[in-house]
Amino acid sequence: MEVKRCISTNERITNNVGSVSFKCPGCGDYEIIRSKKARQIVAKYTCPKCGFTGPN
Ligand SMILES: [Zn+2]
Repeated sequence: MEVKRCISTNERITNNVGSVSFKCPGCGDYEIIRSKKARQIVAKYTCPKCGFTGPN
């Protein structure tokens, strides 16, 4: 089983309540995974596929 990691903090998502995963808003293909912590600190992320940066 593949271990999912937060794209911002690189922490493992297993049993990480509050984490989210969604398709990249830029390319609609890459799966963005964000931990609860990353959301709380509003950590930025960059899609390795298209270069889209968020959450802003
Ligand atoms: Zn993308």
